[in-house]
Amino acid sequence: MKKLCVVMASIVTLTLVATTLYIVETSSNSIYHIFYLLLALLNTVILYVSMTTTESEEHQDYVTLEQIAFKDALTSLLNRRAVDNFIDKIIARCERDDSKFAILYLDMDNFKSINDTLGHDVGDSVLVGVAKRLRNLVRGNDVVGRVGGDEFVIILDEINESSLAFITAERVIQSFKKPLNVNGHRISVSFSIGISIYPDNGVYRLSLFKAADIAMYQAKENGKNGYKFYTNELDDRVKKSRAMNVALEQALVEEQFVLKYQPRVNFNNCTIQEAEALIRWNRPGKGLVAPSEFIPHAEKSHVILSIGAWVINEVCRQCRVFCEQNRPTQISMNISLMQLKDPDFVSVVKKAIDTHHIDATLIALEMSESYLMQEAEEVIPVLHKLRALGVKLAVDEFGKGYSSMGYMKRLPVDTIKIDKSLINEILINEKDKELVAAITALGHVMNMSVVAEGVEIDKHLQMSRLLHIDSAQGFYLAQPLEADELHAFYETCNEKIS
Ligand code: C2E
Ligand code: MG
Repeated sequence: MKKLCVVMASIVTLTLVATTLYIVETSSNSIYHIFYLLLALLNTVILYVSMTTTESEEHQDYVTLEQIAFKDALTSLLNRRAVDNFIDKIIARCERDDSKFAILYLDMDNFKSINDTLGHDVGDSVLVGVAKRLRNLVRGNDVVGRVGGDEFVIILDEINESSLAFITAERVIQSFKKPLNVNGHRISVSFSIGISIYPDNGVYRLSLFKAADIAMYQAKENGKNGYKFYTNELDDRVKKSRAMNVALEQALVEEQFVLKYQPRVNFNNCTIQEAEALIRWNRPGKGLVAPSEFIPHAEKSHVILSIGAWVINEVCRQCRVFCEQNRPTQISMNISLMQLKDPDFVSVVKKAIDTHHIDATLIALEMSESYLMQEAEEVIPVLHKLRALGVKLAVDEFGKGYSSMGYMKRLPVDTIKIDKSLINEILINEKDKELVAAITALGHVMNMSVVAEGVEIDKHLQMSRLLHIDSAQGFYLAQPLEADELHAFYETCNEKIS
């Protein structure tokens, strides 16, 4: 629009100047000369003013465009492009001055669940709140940027010692111990932080980012809400760990996981049929891999959710097969903490039960005592929802860690599984024997059934029975078996328990 005005003003000016020249040539009346000259002068002024305002508006447009190009629209922090430019500049300067700088790469630990449970608007406000808090944590010449959905960087310019990076990372962790106040919600946020230092961990922007990313990954694996400096040996570890994740995901796609079933025998009635599903990885070239070699790894990433969902579905499918064979069997399976904390967990269980049309009471979920006690407040509501579906719940590895009686009373569980480390001691250690007797009595007072795990010899079985334990599983009775071997076992197990 402004440009059009300039063009029009230019045309009018030229016409007026031409008319003035024509009149000067053809007329002797000087009033006309002066009048036309004044008009031409006025128009030139208008032309000048509109040209300068157009220029300044163009400049304004340019500034706005520059801001859009370099600022993150949501948080007003520097965006990825600006962060890249800044790093390139300080690399050039540090090279000249022989100085150092640090990149702190921050990945939010729980952003997905905030978005999933509270919605994207709250998620956006959390990012804005995080940006504000981070800005207040750093020195004036340090730079904070947002380089991905929930990923931030802090660039600490001109550091002499890596201790400043350490202090800043520590300050971030401490500062976020206080929840954010967002639209009336108190939201806890934490970060895993990877730190790389120029020139110790790389002399190019990309290598520095890669080093910080590797360190961040390690901080996540170490249990999140912490920081890690990059080291060369970390590089190796993280490469192996990422390769393992890829292999596990591929194993799911290529159906390399299998379940074995370890029968559990009820002392009073051998016909009550129960078994625990135990996963194995039929890894090409490596044979059957035990869960201890891959479950702890899967539990450090989201892969455990996919593996867990596969186990739940497979157990329900097998349960259906047993029902169709007129051999209804209660199958229990092990559940990791991350599964229980997954907002979709209850619906994953429900969907598997519905898909295979099974009675929910034929499914039991085993959860280890250690995490149930540590995370009781968070998981108790989930346990109630699972119970409402009809599934049975068990505390696994009981006696291995510590239990709070307060929580035991509140946990809506049906079964206590006494850990094999205690069962192994009942013949040699009087105190352990008494402890097992006390746990059994306690379980019964709370209307729970009690299972002995790790029954390896006949005497374990006899002693468990004497201590009024309800049922037992262990190598003495049977190793984990194929699904179709289970019922042949039940038909012959009478000899062992009689
Ligand atoms: P857990 O739930 O305590 O399972 C019992 C483990 O003890 C199994 O090892 C079983 O084979 C072993 N066991 C059974 N009887 C005896 C015995 O008499 N003596 C001894 N020494 N051991 C016995 P497994 O199959 O290697 O499983 C180890 C752990 O891996 C399980 O401990 C469980 O925590 C985890 N796990 C297994 N399957 C799954 C799964 O599908 N999902 C998850 N999240 N974890 C699983
Ligand atoms: Mg178990």
